Amino acid sequence: MRLVLLGPPGAGKGTQAERLVREHGIVQLSTGDMLRAAVAAGTEVGRRAKTVMDRGDLVPDDVMIDIIAERIDRPDAARGFILDGFPRTVPQAEALDRLLATRGIALDRVIEITVDEGMLKDRIENRARQTGGARADDTVATLHNRIAVYRKQTAPVADYYRGRGTLSAVDGMGSIETVSAAIAKVLKRA
Ligand code: AMP
Repeated sequence: MRLVLLGPPGAGKGTQAERLVREHGIVQLSTGDMLRAAVAAGTEVGRRAKTVMDRGDLVPDDVMIDIIAERIDRPDAARGFILDGFPRTVPQAEALDRLLATRGIALDRVIEITVDEGMLKDRIENRARQTGGARADDTVATLHNRIAVYRKQTAPVADYYRGRGTLSAVDGMGSIETVSAAIAKVLKRA
């Protein structure tokens, strides 16, 4: 099974991806986690990404596409994967289609987790408290930019998949359990 999870920061993509990993035995490919690891390791990509991430802006498409192309070719992704945080722009979505097509595979489903914007701020502030500010981009100032970036650059990705008939929207405002059940229902139908 190959899935994409779409949704603004704080929508619960990471939490839902972890559950899907446990239930379906597929890997979670979080581009945010990959970038944070590159920052921690002090690689060239990490050094370039850090300032962009701290602002809440997006790392350039070509960098992200190279990262994901390399990652989906690793053996642990052969059984399937959940993309969490990628694609974030329409050019990334188009590049992903090409990447998968050349490998003779396709996405089974794109799940958009929808949330009320007012709730997002509360959730992300809670996350900042719980993680003790472990994520440099979980600050209120950066959050506003990340939501604006989502609206402008990532919301069109949902339209892109909707136009191809692969998108299912799930209401992300309920409890973790309720959202998981809604995702399970979508996957059963798919
Ligand atoms: P996330 O953990 O998914 O919220 O990602 C944290 C940050 O990493 C984002 O705010 C971006 O700066 C960067 N990032 C993660 N994934 C992507 C992507 N697909 N394209 C561009 N930037 C990304």
